[in-house]
Amino acid sequence: MQKQLLFLPGPVTVAQPVLAAQARPLINHRSRAFAQLLERVVEGLRPAFGTSEEVILLGSSGTGALEAAIANLFSAGEMLLSCAMGAFGERFAAIARAYGCSVEALETPLGAALDPLALERRLAADAQRRIAGVLLTHNETSTGVANDMAAFAPALRAHGAITLVDSVSGLGASEFRMDEWGYDVVVTASQKAFAASPGAAMVAVSERAWKRIAGARLPRFYFDLSRARKAARDGETPWTPPISILYGLDEALRRYHVEGAQAAYARHARYAGAVRAALEALGFTIFSRPSAHSPTVVTAYPPASAGAKALLELLRERYGIVLAGGQGELAGKVVRFGTMGDISEGDLLGAIGAIELALHDLGVAIGSGVGTAAAVESLAARVTSGVA
Ligand SMILES: *Cc1c(COP(=O)(O)O)cnc(C)c1O
Repeated sequence: MQKQLLFLPGPVTVAQPVLAAQARPLINHRSRAFAQLLERVVEGLRPAFGTSEEVILLGSSGTGALEAAIANLFSAGEMLLSCAMGAFGERFAAIARAYGCSVEALETPLGAALDPLALERRLAADAQRRIAGVLLTHNETSTGVANDMAAFAPALRAHGAITLVDSVSGLGASEFRMDEWGYDVVVTASQKAFAASPGAAMVAVSERAWKRIAGARLPRFYFDLSRARKAARDGETPWTPPISILYGLDEALRRYHVEGAQAAYARHARYAGAVRAALEALGFTIFSRPSAHSPTVVTAYPPASAGAKALLELLRERYGIVLAGGQGELAGKVVRFGTMGDISEGDLLGAIGAIELALHDLGVAIGSGVGTAAAVESLAARVTSGVA
């Protein structure tokens, strides 16, 4: 098979040492060696959450942790305010509905970030405090939009509802301060900005949220967070954990901290900026609004004469460059270019060059090197100015 480079917004290109770590012999998950592995992984993740609270590790993809958040925090019939800005926010709301919560949607136009003022107004109007929880997305991977999570904090705190944050494609790639901003439950997963394989999800839970969990009545078993916390205190997980994935995540986190969190945030922002510059130069239309761009994924309409589906197929089959398509109402219309994972600037420029070749193949008239030049200019400018 031809070599492929993943520029998906998960799973991402995983570094060779991380893959090698996953190939280690298995160990007993009721052992000192496993307890040490678990502790290292949790300690490695804590700064990314910006928390000193407990971080619970689950054997699942990110969606399992979203389900755990709902199932552990609420009781049937409780009202939740969904602040969805795209497909992943809709998924979070759908989980809540599946569990029998009553979900109200605060609408945001696709491509925009959640408006802090709209959220503030809705919460201020809830004088009776009927809203028990607020569902938020840090980074909406379908539209390529990032929320300013600090901006929502004062209104959320004033209201007092429990706040649940899907930061599956945000954490590790941009600053998040769970404790300082006062968020209660924050969810992420192994296969996005931490650049490991899929299979592990993590949930950080505030003290206030643990109190609520004790009284919440929705059914839960596999994803029982109290049970997971109890086991974690003994250096274990309640059920067999994805040991190989955790070996990989451990190595990925080690590499992450060698780079440094601030450098990782800067890298994602630089890459996303270069991708946007290149795609715009090639006639794409960026879907996210100017003030709302995500550092981890760029969603864009291809030039009118190149269909998204044909372009993605050519890139994959002829050039070994794997981008993602659209989701929900954007299915078949857009491409999504992920900036997470073990990708170098050279890899990035290679992918942009491949997009130029694929556009040529599809008969789209563009000057040779136009996208690559824009990307080089963007990357070089930010290197010399030191701004990310
Ligand atoms: C990837 C992702 C998820 C989780 O998806 P899984 O396939 O279950 O890991 C959830 N929310 C967002 C914003 C994501 O990007």
